Amino acid sequence: MKKIKNIAVVAHDNCKKELLDFIACNYDVLRQHNLMATGTTGGLVEDLLKELAAKSGGEKVKEVHRLKSGPLGGDQQLGASIADGKVDVLFFFWDPMQPQPHDVDVKALLRIAVLYNIPTASNRSSAEFLISSPFFDHEFVIHKTDYSAYVRRDLP
Ligand code: PGA
Repeated sequence: MKKIKNIAVVAHDNCKKELLDFIACNYDVLRQHNLMATGTTGGLVEDLLKELAAKSGGEKVKEVHRLKSGPLGGDQQLGASIADGKVDVLFFFWDPMQPQPHDVDVKALLRIAVLYNIPTASNRSSAEFLISSPFFDHEFVIHKTDYSAYVRRDLP
């Protein structure tokens, strides 16, 4: 993955405040990368980025590529982007205390992130560790499992 990364951010409703706080605290790092988000999270992140840009003297507002809202297919869009190699890092603050209408999509997104070996943080501490990694601002080679034998497998 390149030095400038494609970073996806997602948070369930009860975790959105925590994610926004994380983004505000790490704005100097995150603003150097490309951001994408599920719909509602993305709208809140856009508002925050406008605020932060205004505070730092009216610099250009960082764009966020917004997908559909998570329960309306956004998690699946994000999973597809991971499969297409368009996501380098995932910050996904999912709610451990509340079932979601799209729990199957949440599980699918987490599965695809593991399958493609995407660095993923699901809570504030792991997010802080991830963003502090020396790899965050450098090129990094993701080890990709070779699934060609699986693709060519004999079917019964
Ligand atoms: P949202 O979706 O950003 O549209 O709220 C979050 C999620 O995937 O549940």
